[in-house]
Amino acid sequence: MTRLVDIGIRIELVSMYPHFHDISISLYERQGDGDSFEFQVHSYAGRAGVDQCLRHVTAAMITLGGMIPVVGDGTCVRFSCGKQHRKACKRIFLEACKIELGTELKSRPMFIFDKKTERNINVDGLGQGAYRINADGEEDGRARRITAIAGGFVKLAEMDYVEDSDQTVVFDCNNDHNSLIGLLLKRALNVRAAMREQDDSAGRGMLSAPSAQQQ
Ligand SMILES: [Zn+2]
Repeated sequence: MTRLVDIGIRIELVSMYPHFHDISISLYERQGDGDSFEFQVHSYAGRAGVDQCLRHVTAAMITLGGMIPVVGDGTCVRFSCGKQHRKACKRIFLEACKIELGTELKSRPMFIFDKKTERNINVDGLGQGAYRINADGEEDGRARRITAIAGGFVKLAEMDYVEDSDQTVVFDCNNDHNSLIGLLLKRALNVRAAMREQDDSAGRGMLSAPSAQQQ
């Protein structure tokens, strides 16, 4: 298994994947061709069917996160811009691991109903990686809600605020990532819960040497 040598660093771990015998599945990050980053979905579990399961998680990352496959065995992806977007990728991986095997994969739209404030939220792509968050409904509290959601995107995907606006956010690569925005929108509504989930996995997942990762 020579590919383990350059599998990269582990950046995220789902220690009990609920849809296949509670196996653990990890996400690795490494340098790809040129300046691009690649992300590898991997498990040390040896049982039959694991490969198919890893390919399902990878396919979900492609559909839900708008990532693109890297040539190989169907378990490696990158962003279209080739950039790292590590936090966003970890989030895509966690969401992909929630999707049951055999489920039809669909990217999520850039609008949602916000039950908490009973508003329709939608996100406008402005081009070059910039997105403006909008909400309908009464004026009272509207701007505050939009600002909170924009802050959610900043936290979840390391996006930046566009100058002079706390309602417009942008990817630092200046490329559009519509599917990713659709995926994150639901989490951005309740960013505290999403961050808690990420923190829970942080202690398990981060940056340990390959020798320490055998389980
Ligand atoms: Zn990008």
